[in-house]
Amino acid sequence: MSNTVNWKDLVLPHILSLQAYSSARDEFSGDAKVFLDANENPFDEEQHNWNRYPDPLQKDIKNQLSEIKGIASENIFLGNGSDEAIDLLFRVFCKAEESNVITCPPTYGMYKVSAAIHNVENIEISLRDDFQLDVEAILNAANEESKMLFICSPNNPTGNSLRKDSIQNLLEKFKGVVVIDEAYIDFSAQKSWMHQLKIYPNLVVLQTLSKAWGLASARLGMAFANQDLIKILNKVKPPYNISGPSQKLVSDSLKNKEGFNKQIKLILAERDKLNQELQDVPGIKKVYASDANFILVKLNEAKSIYQKLIEKGIVVRDRSNVKLCDDCLRITVGTELENKKLISALAKISS
Ligand SMILES: *Cc1c(COP(=O)(O)O)cnc(C)c1O
Repeated sequence: MSNTVNWKDLVLPHILSLQAYSSARDEFSGDAKVFLDANENPFDEEQHNWNRYPDPLQKDIKNQLSEIKGIASENIFLGNGSDEAIDLLFRVFCKAEESNVITCPPTYGMYKVSAAIHNVENIEISLRDDFQLDVEAILNAANEESKMLFICSPNNPTGNSLRKDSIQNLLEKFKGVVVIDEAYIDFSAQKSWMHQLKIYPNLVVLQTLSKAWGLASARLGMAFANQDLIKILNKVKPPYNISGPSQKLVSDSLKNKEGFNKQIKLILAERDKLNQELQDVPGIKKVYASDANFILVKLNEAKSIYQKLIEKGIVVRDRSNVKLCDDCLRITVGTELENKKLISALAKISS
């Protein structure tokens, strides 16, 4: 079953009719060699083209990603991190002081911040105690002004994947845009929802190169959606949102799929080992199973252990103030040596 909502009706009218900025290089076609159109400095001493404006639509990277992900380039938007894609989605769909969005805490903090920036109400429907979606409560809370629903799977900070039947149910029944954030999908055995774009035109899938691909510094986030929505996102984004050096770095890195696969394997093996070892540390009450590259643990006196770890030079993420995560720390899977240091520090602290 598909969804009867027409996603285009959700786009703000001024965005639908927006005339995009047209850059100097968009306005010619042909095989030019002399570029006197963009007021750039003509000297290119290092031969990297750093003196030139970068490709506004990042065609090379999109072609590479298209092959890696098995999806058409036309379905890919690239942003300055996923955070830019989230911001743009608010600009496209949400009207300040009128629209609302639905998020499901505990989850990634940026949805809420972005809602606040855009002066859009954030309706929070907590995950259930098992960290799964409360589908009925979400559908009951949704109203005519509910433009987007944010689902994070595998979820940050809990680490679990959200059930497929719940997500499918929401994709079919929620009368707005469903944004599925798959920042950690490469660490999970789950399949991406991006292959369902044809069935659900109101679906947007977010991924990032910041985690599994090891390129947090490059700031490269991806949004996958139907072609027309991608065109709208491209129209609204700043023209040169991905810098030339970033595009070069990303393009080179994407060629090394073998290195990527190897690192994922290592991280997953370390995750399983860390999960085992954490269970044996006295004072740890619960180690949650993870489909991501981090592990949520429940301890006695999380705050004090967090401080003591810092005194030993180890920083983890204190999530103890977060709903459903009381007394929890979120620990990123590091190198073998880093994980050893963590375990021995925890053992010392609790002895
Ligand atoms: C880390 C993370 C991101 C990544 O954001 P970028 O801006 O691409 O670095 C997105 N979503 C979730 C859930 C994350 O944990």
